[in-house]
Amino acid sequence: MDDNQDFAIHVVGHEWAVDLLKRQQKNERVPQSLLITGPPNIGKSSVARFFAQYLNCQGESRPCGVCLSCRKTVSGNHPDIRIFDDDNNPLKIDQVRTLQRELSLSPLEGRYRVALLCNFERATTSAANALLKTLEEPASQVVIILTAPDPGNLLATIVSRCQVLTLRPLPDADVLDALQNRWQVLPEQAELLAQLAAGRLGWAVNALADESFIARRAQYLDDLLDLLRMHRAERLTYAYGMSRDTAALKEALTQWLIIWRDLLLLRSGSQTRIINLDWLDALQNIAHRGSAVQAKEMVVRLQTALQNLERNVNPRLNLEIVLLKLPLYADI
Ligand SMILES: [Zn+2]
Repeated sequence: MDDNQDFAIHVVGHEWAVDLLKRQQKNERVPQSLLITGPPNIGKSSVARFFAQYLNCQGESRPCGVCLSCRKTVSGNHPDIRIFDDDNNPLKIDQVRTLQRELSLSPLEGRYRVALLCNFERATTSAANALLKTLEEPASQVVIILTAPDPGNLLATIVSRCQVLTLRPLPDADVLDALQNRWQVLPEQAELLAQLAAGRLGWAVNALADESFIARRAQYLDDLLDLLRMHRAERLTYAYGMSRDTAALKEALTQWLIIWRDLLLLRSGSQTRIINLDWLDALQNIAHRGSAVQAKEMVVRLQTALQNLERNVNPRLNLEIVLLKLPLYADI
């Protein structure tokens, strides 16, 4: 490792949560079970990783970003810090049992053994039930951190054992500032990403690394324009094809939601907070064909469709409902 490099984990925003955790540690009231909730890509695991580093840092001003513990935390080699963050493989009972054995032992190098279980709503029920025992009788010097979008996604008995921190989306200006100053994104691209991110810095950073995102975004606009010209049968055919890839469907619905929000603003006579400024001509062409009420209804329908996807409603039916309610603009 480079001796001059700073390995301190910085959390962008969420100052209240960071301050609270630091204060609790200083007052020797470290929470043994923590649940961090909030929308995807908002910074839940960043806050958790920060706290893991903070708790075990050996430096003066924590986290110092220089000591061996800070370095090991960042490189994923700290023997007292276990992180489960695999989107494709939900946490299973065997992994919880192995973790429980580790957590029953004293820390090897640090002050605390920390286990971070990301997206715990995806854990199997048997894994969640197994973890409950550890949450009920935690060993001292153990901190278990769970993350999930919403406490409602977890067993109530798990939530009641945890200190809950609810993170909110960051102000757009904070996302913009971080993109420009920490990630060195050029102003125009940073502006667009900050608007699209809706306060989720992690989303913007992922989009930045995803070279095909800009092309996909343009495709979703083209698809929407095509769909507005299509009749019922063609729309159902589109729904059949699109609904087979849930991740793409979610992304398409999200982009359409942002477009319809823009159309709602245009139809209400406001251009102040338009997000897709680079598409203003195309949007204005659609805006004058319908009412603000109709645009508002589309916004609500798209929001509902996105929520339904999270609840595992059949993707195809979900999309069909949206597409059949789209207005028909045959001549655009
Ligand atoms: Zn340190």
